[in-house]
Amino acid sequence: MSALTVRPWGVGYAIWQGDKRVTGQIGNAAIAERTADLLTIKSQAKPRPCLCCNATFISAGPGNRLCDTCRRYAAQIVT
Ligand SMILES: [Zn+2]
Repeated sequence: MSALTVRPWGVGYAIWQGDKRVTGQIGNAAIAERTADLLTIKSQAKPRPCLCCNATFISAGPGNRLCDTCRRYAAQIVT
């Protein structure tokens, strides 16, 4: 998947993947950038084994390697 870009479109902005527009009009550049980030994260989501319990879960990307249960447990230890 090629990188998403935010470009002016209509009276606002839209997100493009190459020559293809992938969203409708977004009125605010900051929101368009944030939406592009979220879409990128979503596109990287795939099943991965949890590094802690080895259960398969839908990981959001390289920085998300613990399943929800283990992440919640880890958060309790830290706080
Ligand atoms: Zn786990």
